[in-house]
Amino acid sequence: MTASTEPATDGRPLLNRRLAEFGTTIFAEMSALAQRTGALNLGQGFPDTDGPEEVREAAVRALRDGRGNQYPPGPGVPELRQAVAAHQERFYGHLGLGWDPDREVLVTAGATEAIAAALLGLLEPGDEVIALEPYYDSYAAGIAMAGGTRVPVTLRPGADGAYHLDLDELRDAVTPRTRLILLNTPHNPTGTVLRREELAAIAELCHERDLLAVTDEVYEHLVFDGEHLPLASFPGMRERTVSISSAGKTFSFTGWKVGWVTAPPELLTAVRSAKQYLTYVSAGPFQYAVAEALRLPESYYTGLRDDLRDKRDLLSAGLAEAGFRVHRPAGTYFVTADIRPLGGTADGLDFCLGLPERCGVVAVPTQVFYDHREEGASLVRFAFCKRREVLKEAVARLQAR
Ligand SMILES: *Cc1c(COP(=O)(O)O)cnc(C)c1O
Repeated sequence: MTASTEPATDGRPLLNRRLAEFGTTIFAEMSALAQRTGALNLGQGFPDTDGPEEVREAAVRALRDGRGNQYPPGPGVPELRQAVAAHQERFYGHLGLGWDPDREVLVTAGATEAIAAALLGLLEPGDEVIALEPYYDSYAAGIAMAGGTRVPVTLRPGADGAYHLDLDELRDAVTPRTRLILLNTPHNPTGTVLRREELAAIAELCHERDLLAVTDEVYEHLVFDGEHLPLASFPGMRERTVSISSAGKTFSFTGWKVGWVTAPPELLTAVRSAKQYLTYVSAGPFQYAVAEALRLPESYYTGLRDDLRDKRDLLSAGLAEAGFRVHRPAGTYFVTADIRPLGGTADGLDFCLGLPERCGVVAVPTQVFYDHREEGASLVRFAFCKRREVLKEAVARLQAR
């Protein structure tokens, strides 16, 4: 045995080809910058205050009572599966959507694992996956790990300043190799909430071309204009859709990593087959707490939404006053802004790298969420899931720039 620090790779890179392009993320770099400069971090999308006290207490109680401290059941604890089914019934039952907690609900380690497991369980190598660009960063890696090929369809701003899906472009992106559409609405980072006509057209396309759908609905309760409609509620979509959501964004406990899948039994089995060899199970005591969270009264959900709507308005107005072109989000807790009217660099990456030093604020260059980087070159993303004082101070700093 030698104590060499040189790995014996015969010159072969350690990180394999599937993941080579995902070696480092911009988030690590930006967070390091934020720490070094003490800047206000509007880059990463997590709240700077925890969720409801009673939910936190529910987790403590579960832990103390010895509920979930050992491996919970593979599909998730029955209390949470029932709460997920009841939540779907409460919010989407009027659309005809309902799920059997024993056969059609699966608890996962956040939405991230659910997405990865869906891709790993459903894709054959070479299968194409359509995703709306700019897309959440785990999609590309998840598709790559499953051996699939990603096919981005670019969202573009319309005359109203909001981002829109071009349905013709979506139709043209489908090939005989397309296996599924990975759909995120409300959409991170653009804040777009797909409308009924758009979802109906996507549903029709799935039928016509015999595609599966995987929907990422983690922002389902953060819709300020319009309403969230699950794709699974459209005619004939229940049997071909894997619907995914999680507790992180809805209850402001992003560190708990409790997510869930609802799907008909055959699809759920495919997802579970992959999931059981990723984490098997996770977050035992937190599952009980999230079961209680899901049953919070209507006022919790509307309160969360109204609070974030105010924060959206505060940050959007402040950014506009600072000279950005603001693409007002209809949902999520991100706002996308164009830096070109500011007159300096037109490159969002340059802009964001200099921003902490110059202004004491951290934002994320949206181009990192694109395959067609040029489409998002001048865009930056700010998160507004932060305390009012923080948003006000960030706005003041950006305006004094
Ligand atoms: C935050 C986020 C996720 C991750 O959810 P977890 O439950 O924390 O794994 C997934 N999709 C989108 C679009 C997100 O913004």
